[in-house]
Amino acid sequence: MKDHPDHLAAAWSELVATARRTVADGLVVGTSGNVSVRVKDLVLVTPSGVPYDQLGPSDTTAVDLDGRQIIGRLRPTSELPMHLALYRSTPATAVVHTHAPNATAVSTLVPELPPIHYMAAALGGPVRVAPYALYGSDELAANMLRALRDRTAALLQNHGTVAYGASLGQALERTAQLEWMCRVWLTANSVPGHTPSLLSAAQLDAAGDRLRGYGQRSSHPA
Ligand code: 13P
Ligand code: ZN
Repeated sequence: MKDHPDHLAAAWSELVATARRTVADGLVVGTSGNVSVRVKDLVLVTPSGVPYDQLGPSDTTAVDLDGRQIIGRLRPTSELPMHLALYRSTPATAVVHTHAPNATAVSTLVPELPPIHYMAAALGGPVRVAPYALYGSDELAANMLRALRDRTAALLQNHGTVAYGASLGQALERTAQLEWMCRVWLTANSVPGHTPSLLSAAQLDAAGDRLRGYGQRSSHPA
């Protein structure tokens, strides 16, 4: 579809760029994973099974919060139940789902990523693993929501990651931090004869408090 208002065209182009980044950064292979962004009562989503480098402005795909297709003819991502569940139940503006390799490996080993680094606090605390359910199912969406209580990211057992944020950039950044933390834990945990030290709840809370003031003052232009 052509001639979308500027704000929708800009949101679509940012969504496509984010989906391409998931491939470029090694968080997914091929058409795995999916990305969405909310613009008022519309949710722009990646179409199912279309390589991200083939997506242009005429492929804009959007549904309403009930999943009815409002824009486009390509079939929306099969994980629509996960994306819509997040927009209905959390303050999410953007959602990124990937099959990041270290995160997916961790999802097969433990019910929760052990708190090996203070960046867990940036995601709300130790990251839970949502029990396995068929991809694209309402059951998977329900399991994911439970795993995300007080968190902005979760692992999906034997499947991958999901993270949300106030922007596509924030959802992608949280995904990358989660994948990095999973890599650190797998690396430390695989040294024979050693067990990684972990952080206490109090240590994570203190890091969470400090992270709220991390970076530049909000008046800073950066
Ligand atoms: P889609 O191509 O339908 O978005 O599916 C990819 C995926 O990761 C399903 O879990
Ligand atoms: Zn998936």
